[in-house]
Amino acid sequence: MDLEDHAEELASDLGVDKEEVTQDLQNLVEYSVPIDEAKQSLRRKHGDGSSGGGAPAAKDIGDITPDSSNVTVTARVLTAGERSIRYQGSDHVIVEGRLADETGAIDYTAWEDFGLSPGDTITAGNAGVREWDGEPELNLGESTSLSFEEEALEVPYEVGGEATLAELQTGDRAVSIEVEVLECERRTIDGRDGETDILSGVFGDESGRLPFTNWDPAPEIEEGNSVRIENAYVREFRGVPEVNVSEFSTVTALEHEVDVGSDAPTMGIGEAVATGGVYDVELVGNLIAVRDGSGLIQRCPECRRVVQKGQCRTHGDVDGIDDLRVKAILDDGTGTVTAVLDDELTKQVYGGDLEDALEEARDAMDQEAVADTIREKIVGREYRVRGHLSVDEYGANLDASSFDESDDDPTERAAAFLEAVDGAQVEAETETEVDA
Ligand SMILES: [Zn+2]
Repeated sequence: MDLEDHAEELASDLGVDKEEVTQDLQNLVEYSVPIDEAKQSLRRKHGDGSSGGGAPAAKDIGDITPDSSNVTVTARVLTAGERSIRYQGSDHVIVEGRLADETGAIDYTAWEDFGLSPGDTITAGNAGVREWDGEPELNLGESTSLSFEEEALEVPYEVGGEATLAELQTGDRAVSIEVEVLECERRTIDGRDGETDILSGVFGDESGRLPFTNWDPAPEIEEGNSVRIENAYVREFRGVPEVNVSEFSTVTALEHEVDVGSDAPTMGIGEAVATGGVYDVELVGNLIAVRDGSGLIQRCPECRRVVQKGQCRTHGDVDGIDDLRVKAILDDGTGTVTAVLDDELTKQVYGGDLEDALEEARDAMDQEAVADTIREKIVGREYRVRGHLSVDEYGANLDASSFDESDDDPTERAAAFLEAVDGAQVEAETETEVDA
């Protein structure tokens, strides 16, 4: 928004002459007054004119952009979750969630205790707009006037934060899930208030699996238990979304067992990489290359990182431990990932163990011989790889838990091909008839 647009918005809100507003705005901005503050002071000067009550004009949620200045919205509270944050040395409880009207939905943070509950219909006067990850968000704070409406606003969104694990994304707040605790371990960490116990592990439901951290250990969270969790939030940890269960979350044991699907969701590689990380996913693609650092390798005895010419980047000259690994590039036409195979999976594709690999390297007087053998076996074939996908500045890596040659060929691929050329086939048949 440039000055002209701000002036126009202000003039129409205040019902005053645009020329006058433009002049005033220009003066204030020349004195280095930030545009939002300049607009606020003009609103005060003109007593807020038609919009009244010190609040900016009402806006539809669908029309709010990161550039919008303060707004007034009437909306339904979809979710409201408490969370503790440390701000300027002390703990504050904030409420986060989503609001919606007929035109859209938006995340909000309430810095004051307004007593918001899912299902409430509210009018928030003078809510701040800030940008988070390219999207607008609302700040409800000290200068926001909040009132509850008697009549519920009908919105095309579900009230409440019910979700499946596959639906959860980094940034989601106040979510409710029903899951089975698949893995769980207790750890002691150095928290901001000294040593504290936390639980971490993996949740599963029919849609998928996700790692979790429980910051205030709940006795119901125990391996094998099925639980309902309300008011959890999702943040990114090591490249994948992680469910966070806090002191404000409610955990209840379920009478019934939650079914956990055994299959990982299958995604296109491009789509999977674009999500920024998936805890458990299946990707299918052509294996186009085996990268350097595959086959017979040596690891640092201290940190397990791969050493080159006996040198660890951290520990210097070390006596490397022999190991097997494959780093292979998988491509499905929409994107590429590096599938990383551990020693067990590498033994399977190599068709031999570490002893065999050492013998092959000795005979060839070249340790690269092992990688070459693996290359010959797998490059150019199609594989179905399941594992943990992480995406960072070094690229997309799929830490494989299974690696199998794709079984949908050749019959299914042939069928798909025939379907695609069906039109041509019909034409050919017609010609035959004419000939007869
Ligand atoms: Zn090392």
